[in-house]
Amino acid sequence: MHPDDFKIYLDKTYPEYWKTEDNKYIVHQYRMKHKNKQWHWFDCSEIIYLRLEDGSPKQVFGVVHDITDRKKAEIRLAKYGKELEEKVEDRTRELQDAQNALLNVLEDVNEANQELEAANLRLKELDRLKSMFIASMSHELRTPLNSIIGFTGIILQGMAGEINDEIKDQLERVHRSGKYLLSLINDVIDISKIEAGRLEIYTEEFNLDDLIKEAVSVLDTDIKNKNLRLEIVSPADLILTTDRKRLLQCLINYVSNAVKYTEKGNITILVREIQGKIEITVSDTGIGIKKEDIPALFQPFIRIESHLKTKSPGTGLGLYLTKKIITEMLKGEIFVTSIYGKGSTFGIRVPKQI
Ligand code: ADP
Repeated sequence: MHPDDFKIYLDKTYPEYWKTEDNKYIVHQYRMKHKNKQWHWFDCSEIIYLRLEDGSPKQVFGVVHDITDRKKAEIRLAKYGKELEEKVEDRTRELQDAQNALLNVLEDVNEANQELEAANLRLKELDRLKSMFIASMSHELRTPLNSIIGFTGIILQGMAGEINDEIKDQLERVHRSGKYLLSLINDVIDISKIEAGRLEIYTEEFNLDDLIKEAVSVLDTDIKNKNLRLEIVSPADLILTTDRKRLLQCLINYVSNAVKYTEKGNITILVREIQGKIEITVSDTGIGIKKEDIPALFQPFIRIESHLKTKSPGTGLGLYLTKKIITEMLKGEIFVTSIYGKGSTFGIRVPKQI
């Protein structure tokens, strides 16, 4: 018997024989040297023993199986099991490391996000302050400018006495530039106020047809001077509840552009009600806009190159402001379609009521 197993036999198995009731089996596994000189495993079971007079057990019968193959398989299995366990442990450790690394990265991302948010807030505040500064500065500029426009107007009308043609021509330039500057300042004030969130909406109930007639009347002289035909297709009794002054401002903007950028032909204003929204389009038979220029139209200070650019003064702020008013204040949308050389259609879609 293998010395290790013999020791087990003496220390454990044999004492058990002493304690065990008669005819109970005790299974005993041990190694014996095979004739091929290799250790073989045996399983000794169903042992029948007698008790001698002093009560000590004496084995008289047992069934012995050679379980070397099973034992080897068991040992191999145990080895694989251990290897597997180690592998699982390794993987678990790796996974845990990866998880920890991921958590660290997430923490970093979180921190970076918080910093970004704080920077964004600071930037927004700065932007708001900038807009407020521009609005108040522009307001200060408006007062002296109104005096310039007012007094040059009075002199031009001859109310302050006779003026010769040369002075008249020069004063007309001052008057025109003053008006241009005033409209630029007004646009800048409006944009700054919208950006600072300080442009208030005044809602009222009004007739849309009257509003369209008012917008057209402002540009009546220019339309006549250019010999343009104007057509208005609008239901007479359409009532809107929204900011009248702002909608009028946007409409004047569209119509004034249609007049500026049309040399001959028609301007058509069409009003339709579509799914609870009011659509107003201003179409012209003017110079039109190239497809690639359309995306830039509603950007600030953008004026498209054309032979009318210098002839018709403009700030490049009108469409930008119109978009801001319609989308940010009146909960609507704007759109444009155009065929270069043939004409354009600028549209507004607003809820009937806000
Ligand atoms: P501007 O004061 O220059 O008219 P806008 O913001 O109102 O500024 O318009 C921006 C540019 O869009 C204009 O300079 C012009 O090139 C183009 N545009 C606007 N309306 C029309 C139109 N009806 N037909 C052709 N081009 C137009």
